[in-house]
Amino acid sequence: VVQNVLKANDELAARNRQRLHAAGVLSIDLMGAPGCGKTSLIEAVLQRVGPALRIGVIAGDLATQRDADRIARFSNHVVQINTGKGCHLEAHHVTAALDRIELAKLDLLFIENVGNLICPVGFDLGQDLKVGVFSATGGDDKAAKHPYIVIESALLLLNMIDLLPHVRFNRDLFLEDIHRLNPAAQVLELSAATGAGVDAFVQWIQTQREMRKA
Ligand code: MG
Ligand code: ZN
Repeated sequence: VVQNVLKANDELAARNRQRLHAAGVLSIDLMGAPGCGKTSLIEAVLQRVGPALRIGVIAGDLATQRDADRIARFSNHVVQINTGKGCHLEAHHVTAALDRIELAKLDLLFIENVGNLICPVGFDLGQDLKVGVFSATGGDDKAAKHPYIVIESALLLLNMIDLLPHVRFNRDLFLEDIHRLNPAAQVLELSAATGAGVDAFVQWIQTQREMRKA
């Protein structure tokens, strides 16, 4: 049964991917624990980029419209998905959200996954890239304890670096764990709250877009 469910998911994900590619939209599945700042990071990116990068967002949460409401202050292309008891997004959620988004008007799609470091990693949504978000307040052991998000992510972000002086967080240990688990992973340290490092994240996204066009 599990095999069949995953197969059905992968087929839908492949269709999502085709649809996004046909529209020339780069898509990023943003994964991270509740409270690591996924929505704040999307807000920070939206505030920074002008019309040069047209961004849509699918916000995944168990309940409430709150993230979509926050993001809607900066983008007209936002869809909230509520999963109820579901602890991760699946491809069919994204398919339903894509039906409500004008892909022709977008260059980039953020898919904010449900706050969870575990099962979002195992579900293909049709995204181009998975990005894992950790935070200074989440603790320096979270990468080591959740190896699969580290292994499957093209980029890993450490958010809330402005709080590093105030919390117990061994940055060297955290980075060492990441590089041990995924030697090819890129890591960016940033703060959605202060904006530090957000430009480097935007630059990384632009580079990914250019690489795909070429
Ligand atoms: Mg959120
Ligand atoms: Zn789950």
